[in-house]
Amino acid sequence: MKKKTAVVTGGAGFLGSHLCDRLISEGFKVICLDNLLTGRLENIEHLFENENFQFIKLDVTNFIHVPSDVDYVLHFASPASPIDYLKFPIQTLKVGSLGTHKALGLAKEKNATFLLASTSEVYGDPLIHPQSEEYWGNVNPVGPRGVYDEAKRFAEAMTMAYHRYHNLDTRIVRIFNTYGPRMRLDDGRALPTFIDQALKQQDITVFGDGSQTRSFCYVSDLIDGIFKLLLSKEVMPVNIGNPDEITIDEFAKEVLLLTKSKSKIVYKELPIDDPKVRQPDITRARILLKWEPKVNRSEGLKITLEYFNGRI
Ligand code: UDP
Repeated sequence: MKKKTAVVTGGAGFLGSHLCDRLISEGFKVICLDNLLTGRLENIEHLFENENFQFIKLDVTNFIHVPSDVDYVLHFASPASPIDYLKFPIQTLKVGSLGTHKALGLAKEKNATFLLASTSEVYGDPLIHPQSEEYWGNVNPVGPRGVYDEAKRFAEAMTMAYHRYHNLDTRIVRIFNTYGPRMRLDDGRALPTFIDQALKQQDITVFGDGSQTRSFCYVSDLIDGIFKLLLSKEVMPVNIGNPDEITIDEFAKEVLLLTKSKSKIVYKELPIDDPKVRQPDITRARILLKWEPKVNRSEGLKITLEYFNGRI
């Protein structure tokens, strides 16, 4: 039987590269597109010898030309950490809007199924807790995080418009905080930053009083949920994440224990519009995809720490 072909935009990024691995292991051909703004060749180097893998360096905000047949388009291109999207605000807005439009255009041209990597950031600083897919969110359009949040909200609206108007087969995954090997140590997120600081015996920088919460999902669980969603028929958004919630202060202490570091915790100013709470309601994923996370934080952190240890 002819292999299915999947195009992964942002395929050299943290999540994109894990997705490429999974798709190849499931018997797909993968065409990985990335402009390497925040993605890294290092993440996909091991795939270059694979005959089912192709990399094209490309900015997906421009017209995307793929000569072969395509069965799936998975749109993962975007700066995704708060530091990255504050550093590249226009690129973030462009890849979420123009890039989504081009990726949808490719899917329509090829009659492919389209999957959008959306985010828990569509809920903004949420007033409902935990966040279920029915919640419309609390986003500040003109705040610094607006460039990411609004781009992803636009991307969801555009995806639904292609579904409704062009009958395109579409999926939307709302991704909650995810961690694991291939995260950049310098991407500014709490998890790699704390590990980096702990390993270097530097102060751990907790923003605000650390009472804000997050819920961290290990990358293999997330990719598994996304793969199940892709093969499902579900058009409406589905949250994928781990509901195990922790305050950032508690999390910093957990990293100190795990790394046996002598670093001390220092408290810095809380960034503007930093969400106070975040926890996915994964009822829909449980029912529709028969999915739930399997890797707990202590297991996931151990593997992640090994990866970072090899890089410091
Ligand atoms: N944070 C922190 N210290 C850091 C980086 C982040 O205390 O060095 C906080 C940040 O303010 C937020 C939480 O940790 O409340 C998670 O931030 P992250 O950048 O990982 O991503 P977010 O979940 O906000 O998108």
